[in-house]
Amino acid sequence: ERKQLYRLRREPSRTVDGVDVRIFANAESREDVAEAHALGAAGIGLYRTEFLFMGETLPDEDAQFRAYRDVALGMTGRTVTIRTLDIGADKADRTGLALTDEPNPALGLRGVRLSLSRAEIFEAQMRAIVRASGYGPVRVLVPMVSGREEIVATAALLKRVRRDLTSEGHEIAEHIPLGAMIEVPAAAISLPGFIDVVDFVSVGTNDLVQYLLAADRNNEALGELYTPLHPAVLRLLENVIRIARRRAKPLAMCGEMAGDAQFTPLLLALGLEEFSLHPGTLLEVRRAIRACDLDALRSRAPALLRARDRAGIEKWMRANAPADA
Ligand code: PEP
Ligand code: MG
Repeated sequence: ERKQLYRLRREPSRTVDGVDVRIFANAESREDVAEAHALGAAGIGLYRTEFLFMGETLPDEDAQFRAYRDVALGMTGRTVTIRTLDIGADKADRTGLALTDEPNPALGLRGVRLSLSRAEIFEAQMRAIVRASGYGPVRVLVPMVSGREEIVATAALLKRVRRDLTSEGHEIAEHIPLGAMIEVPAAAISLPGFIDVVDFVSVGTNDLVQYLLAADRNNEALGELYTPLHPAVLRLLENVIRIARRRAKPLAMCGEMAGDAQFTPLLLALGLEEFSLHPGTLLEVRRAIRACDLDALRSRAPALLRARDRAGIEKWMRANAPADA
């Protein structure tokens, strides 16, 4: 069984009806990057930079540059998506960067809000990422975006950093795509109002589910209240996917939902074409994709969206589970 699965590392992530689905990997260490590469990931869809900030001192531009450059080199020409700092709330640090006295950390100064409030730290990180673009295709992904202003401000920083580095004589990429995480409901709902200022989007279901259902992602007491199997979640996902598709912007899902093979048919039905997941789940999801008939699943999306509760969604999942997955 394990061996059968391992054989899939050299096989395409192609549906029964011949459509190639792109599977990227989420990574936060050298080992993750090496594994992603070995398993045939299309690239890194989410490189979490928080681990660089787990020590007692802040990493400087050079230390960050070396880490990002190594990811770009490790992926040998495949796309690497580096997420800017997403510290705060459940992602604590020891550098003293994140505030510790907020009454509601999950609703506080975290992610891009924190970065924009600490201009010198954001600039050092952006410079490190842009310098790494000289070593392989790099994209910048912004966490916790709630609206257009944050992307516009980040795009301006990226532009200025590119100009500075070029005049300092650094070799940088011609184009560095800028993307927004869609993980705050306001960003999902207002996407048509800022999709023109992003090059791609990535849906973070871990936080999107938390904020949409008002259910803490780490509170065990909530049991099944924290779940992507809620009609509001599926409708919002379908909406976001449809908007990105209509505007021809690449869209991936990088939350845990993308890495759970039992959700693969459901996500394909909703129109998802790019997955980003922990390398440990890559082959299982590839196997699930290879057992799916995309055209048939897409035709059953209306029935899925009509489900009125979790039981209805689970019934759809049972009826559409691939025979051999
Ligand atoms: C998410 O929120 O779904 C996500 C991918 O980011 P993180 O889990 O790092 O918050
Ligand atoms: Mg998140």
